[in-house]
Amino acid sequence: MAMDCQQIIDLLADYIDGELPGDQRRRLESHLDCCDGCVEFVDSYRKTGVLCRNALRVEMPQSLKSTLLEFLRNELQSPQT
Ligand SMILES: [Zn+2]
Repeated sequence: MAMDCQQIIDLLADYIDGELPGDQRRRLESHLDCCDGCVEFVDSYRKTGVLCRNALRVEMPQSLKSTLLEFLRNELQSPQT
C-alpha cells in the first residue's frame, strides 16, 4: 500500500529521528522516490532542524497541516517543462 503525502508528513519527525520502524521507513522512502514535493519537504525539514521538528512533534493544527499539504501540491503541480 502506497503512502500519500499526508502520511509522509505525519511520520516525518520519526523518520528524521531514525525512530520509524523498518517497514514504514521503506514505504516512506519509496514514496520519496516518486514524489519530488515530499523530497523537498524532507530537505527543508532537515535544514530548519529543531524548530520545525518541534512544530511537527506537537499536535499540529489542521490549518497548518493544510498549508503544508498545499505547499506540496503546488510543488507537484508546477509544470515540469
Ligand atoms: Zn508526497
